[in-house]
Amino acid sequence: MGLQHTPEGRPVALANPTSRPFFDAAREGRLVLQRCPRDGFFFYPRSHCPRCLGTDWSWEAASGRGTVHSFTIDRVGHAPGLGAEVPYAIAIVELEEGPRMTARLVDCDPDSVHVGQEVEARFEPLLDVAVVHFTPRA
Ligand SMILES: [Zn+2]
Repeated sequence: MGLQHTPEGRPVALANPTSRPFFDAAREGRLVLQRCPRDGFFFYPRSHCPRCLGTDWSWEAASGRGTVHSFTIDRVGHAPGLGAEVPYAIAIVELEEGPRMTARLVDCDPDSVHVGQEVEARFEPLLDVAVVHFTPRA
């Protein structure tokens, strides 16, 4: 995926024809994933299944739920355009469907984040795409 930037300099993914359905769904508050009929779900969006290189995958709705597999906390604010957000947690979230996504954890105390924590997706429309975040499940 390429990058584009907000006027504040925040980097945001640049949609391409393959990833456009992912970002269109995210703008509508829905998480969708590609699923290969032989190998199951995969992420990030790409033109071929990463296991069998097949192109007969389809877009399918995902639950938007997952668990924190790993995380770190940014207390410095090196990421362009996110300095006002520190401290914040960045996690690798293992989705219920299997794939893992790297995302910011929002609407929570970063010091409360822990491995195995149950989280669900939140969507922030930005430019012509949407950024996927996660927040702890109540
Ligand atoms: Zn496959």
